[in-house]
Amino acid sequence: MTKDREAAARALRAQQELLGTCTDCSLCEGRTQVVFGVGSPVADLLFIGEGPGFNEDKLGEPFVGQAGKLLTELLAGIGLAREDVYIANVVKCRPPGNRDPLPVEIEACSPKLMEQIRILRPRVVCTLGRFATRLIAQTDAPITSIRGRAKAAEVAGVPVLILPVFHPAAALYTPANKAVLEEDFQKLRVLLARGQDALGQDGRKQGAVPARPVSQEAATGGALDDGEQLALW
Ligand code: SF4
Repeated sequence: MTKDREAAARALRAQQELLGTCTDCSLCEGRTQVVFGVGSPVADLLFIGEGPGFNEDKLGEPFVGQAGKLLTELLAGIGLAREDVYIANVVKCRPPGNRDPLPVEIEACSPKLMEQIRILRPRVVCTLGRFATRLIAQTDAPITSIRGRAKAAEVAGVPVLILPVFHPAAALYTPANKAVLEEDFQKLRVLLARGQDALGQDGRKQGAVPARPVSQEAATGGALDDGEQLALW
């Protein structure tokens, strides 16, 4: 299905305007503003984090602090800029003191994220950390056991390939996690190339992610020559 950039941008703007005054959960009480999401309205790659922190709440954009800098760097490592992808969060208002979002808050806010996914129709969804992974991949498995492993699924009626990775903030405190993130981001590049083939031209799911790269570009994906590393879970 060919994406209509103007229509998607219009739909996102309308949703953002509507959510500007959202009071569907108690996170509205402490926020400076709703942090809706940012990026290309026709992005094939969607990143989903946990929720806005201090800087995001002030500036109204996800991933603008230290973790955001690292995300930008990781993207550059696979030849992408922030403008090429879309970035959103599980909850759109800052939890006080940067605490974890509560189940009731995630339940209230997730329909907004699902609507964004319906508009964006990404091919690949990269979940950053455990909250986004739990919600999008519908699993209680620890992030350490499934990170870097892709899964084909339908999310909000859209067939996608999901790749869970560590939250970039995890690399700020534990530098070894940065190397893990860099390795997993290389897989994103290959998944984007394979997504077209795995999902079909019309976006219908065709089955598992192909074991071998489908293009010469993907074939040069470094450590990803081994199909084993992209096994589904
Ligand atoms: S977190 Fe989501 S549901 Fe809660 S007030 Fe903000 S936009 Fe509304």
